[in-house]
Amino acid sequence: MARRIVLLGGPGAGKGTQAKRLAETQHVPHISTGDIFREQVGKKTELGGRIEDYMNRGQLVPDALTCEVVAVRLAQPDCAEGYILDGFPRSMFQAENLDRLLGERGEALDIAISLEVSDGEIVKRLTSRRTCSTCGRIYNLVSDPPLREGLCDAEECDGAELTKREDDASEDTVRERLRVYHETTEPIIAYYEKQDLLRSIGGPDLGPDDIALKIEEILQATGVALSP
Ligand code: AMP
Repeated sequence: MARRIVLLGGPGAGKGTQAKRLAETQHVPHISTGDIFREQVGKKTELGGRIEDYMNRGQLVPDALTCEVVAVRLAQPDCAEGYILDGFPRSMFQAENLDRLLGERGEALDIAISLEVSDGEIVKRLTSRRTCSTCGRIYNLVSDPPLREGLCDAEECDGAELTKREDDASEDTVRERLRVYHETTEPIIAYYEKQDLLRSIGGPDLGPDDIALKIEEILQATGVALSP
């Protein structure tokens, strides 16, 4: 069975961290529109130039452009057995567009997992989030700090620097991302609930390992997971 999984949740809810783990256990690619967009901005491509301002302001990149990028990515051969979508869809337009795209190929999503975190916790998390500039591992200076200050733990990264994402740097941008999340992204939770695809995970005391375990349980119970 294919494993077409959507991870939902506000900025800093842990989608990226969980998506990376899931991609490994389920042997399907992790597709993060945020990562794809950041790469384009970093490489100063034509697309990067068109989207940089939206990202730095904490606003969504226009739907049509985002859907085009995703359609190209999902057409790659490594997506045949499924994928973990992280940060897409983020609007009703995108959710409906994705359903249409999959429907045209006789495919459908298997599950949408929503990671629920309060706004207060999100603001706290984003200001202490750091990312390895080489492997992309996400750290949190409070709950998951690196062994050496400012440097990635991974041996193969050879002391690569941890960086702060541009859009995590100012509290105004973080607040704008939260506003956009509640206004534009949250409605798709009900959309997936209606399709009986939604499973939610939340709770103030859940760490990354607890959440990973709950996701595995959900995937096993719904028959989406690869058997161990
Ligand atoms: P993320 O890494 O998922 O938090 O995304 C970082 C930024 O990239 C967002 O704040 C948006 O500006 C842009 N972005 C990522 N995914 C999408 C999407 N599905 N639709 C529109 N903009 C997106």
